[in-house]
Amino acid sequence: MIPVHNESATLDTLFGTLLPIVSGAAGSFEIVVVNDGSADDTLQHLLRLQQSTPQLRVIDLSRNFGKEAALTAGLRHCRGACAITLDADLQDPPELIPQMLQKWREGYETVVAVHADRDTDSFLRRSSAHAFYAVLNAVADMRFVPNAGDFRLLDRVVIEAFLALPERTRYNKGLFAWVGFRQHLIEHQRPERSGGSSKFNFRRLLRLAIEGITSFSSFPLQLWTYVGMTIAGISFLYGAAIALRTVIWGVDVPGYASLIVAVMFFGGINLLSIGVLGEYVGRIFMESKQRPLYVVRRLHEPDSAAPGKP
Ligand code: UDP
Ligand code: MG
Repeated sequence: MIPVHNESATLDTLFGTLLPIVSGAAGSFEIVVVNDGSADDTLQHLLRLQQSTPQLRVIDLSRNFGKEAALTAGLRHCRGACAITLDADLQDPPELIPQMLQKWREGYETVVAVHADRDTDSFLRRSSAHAFYAVLNAVADMRFVPNAGDFRLLDRVVIEAFLALPERTRYNKGLFAWVGFRQHLIEHQRPERSGGSSKFNFRRLLRLAIEGITSFSSFPLQLWTYVGMTIAGISFLYGAAIALRTVIWGVDVPGYASLIVAVMFFGGINLLSIGVLGEYVGRIFMESKQRPLYVVRRLHEPDSAAPGKP
């Protein structure tokens, strides 16, 4: 199951590598590709590939809904006893698939590929990922595996559990962690993109990170209670100190600098905490609209009407 967004440049290499591996590893299989509102000729390219690949099913979404939604769309259409999700750019090496299937046959319900290191990512992206997982694991009630990508094998029971989750704002990695099940981790080196360019800029990653934290923890909301209590405590002590000083040494007027600093500091804290509140209210708003996660324009099934059931 592969989500694609403007991946025309990588499709040929992808299928060239993927097909021999899966036909060797699995008796029967299907390849579900979700075209997530590509603006290039990805769809035409896929339909061309479908002529020669009868296992290929293409789900064409009506616009770009984002990778998380595209993955959900794909999983909803997968029919196999298990499904493997991977990226189109061969950063999730298909060579691992036989090993994943092996683990699945041994009884694991999820097999996750974990990047051994992030050498192929920029320094900024690597360190922000590190900070993100540290924060997430500190505030969330669950344990998240750092550097686990979206390359994973999911048993049918996991897929059903995942699809049964009703929320609209989805952070898939968290949802898979939430549903649980027996999980096996496979370490691998993440190679460079085979072609094209990354679809995630810093803004999108930041959005995903905020989504991840706010979906799985209400700690950012409660934090302000503690901050407020601490500041109130300090203010009380400071107030007492000033009162005492006034009684002993009398009134003195200076204090402009400390006044301005205090006003700005509290202004900042107020805005910050309102912003955090806004994150959660926005989330309630999104959920209450009950909109579907994605809209399918059309399902392109292969012509030979008997696709192999995996
Ligand atoms: N992708 C998608 N919808 C989007 C953005 C990305 O379906 O809105 C797909 C993309 O085509 C690729 C996968 O998600 O198959 C991972 O994207 P990318 O390689 O750009 O992410 P990175 O490896 O940089 O994290
Ligand atoms: Mg990639």
